[in-house]
Amino acid sequence: MSQSYEVIFENNRKWQETKRQQCPDYFKDLADGQNPEYLYIGCSDSRVAAEELMGFEPGDVFVHRNVANLVHGLDMNAASAIEYAVSHLKVKHIIICGHYNCGGIKAAMLPEDFGTMNPWLSNIRDVYRLHQEELDAIEDEHLRYDRLVELNVQEQCLNVIKMACVQERYLLDGYPIVHGWVFDLRTGRLIDLNIDFKNILADIQKIYDLTDSEWVVNARKKAG
Ligand SMILES: [Zn+2]
Repeated sequence: MSQSYEVIFENNRKWQETKRQQCPDYFKDLADGQNPEYLYIGCSDSRVAAEELMGFEPGDVFVHRNVANLVHGLDMNAASAIEYAVSHLKVKHIIICGHYNCGGIKAAMLPEDFGTMNPWLSNIRDVYRLHQEELDAIEDEHLRYDRLVELNVQEQCLNVIKMACVQERYLLDGYPIVHGWVFDLRTGRLIDLNIDFKNILADIQKIYDLTDSEWVVNARKKAG
């Protein structure tokens, strides 16, 4: 145990030295502030290394992670991360990234009592209920599991689009754009679910518009 603990500090010393050799001002620049273009919301799973799989360096992406990459209205942790990224850092893209073989998604498909995790997993069970017809039509259990991972990402994108800070800033300057991705850790490939952000925003305006604005008209104006 102490060995693995010590190796972290040894790794850190080597990393610090390498960075300084590559660029003497590296840590001075890092300390000067952050200006990331991306907010990444992903799963806490140890196999999904956000920066590494996207080829990003420190400073490139603002990151929020939780079990099964959820965003829901009462989660002040996710809401604060999104508000800060959108209103203060002014990120241009918000990425919700799920992953196949997700333990949180798997748990929500099981008829079991998970104790403290029940309310959290209930959000994923809600995604299943919303798409029950499609999911139950998939006979292969593994394919059904994969599809729930994708549908969960799609629903979390909707939850982000429902937020006032996202809608208001999009009206002001056309950003942020919300994206839904899945990381396939069986192949290492990142898959874009091609979430149609502008049309989803226009579609949900009847119920979720928090700006009293004509989203469709606005989108058309921007298109040309
Ligand atoms: Zn996961």
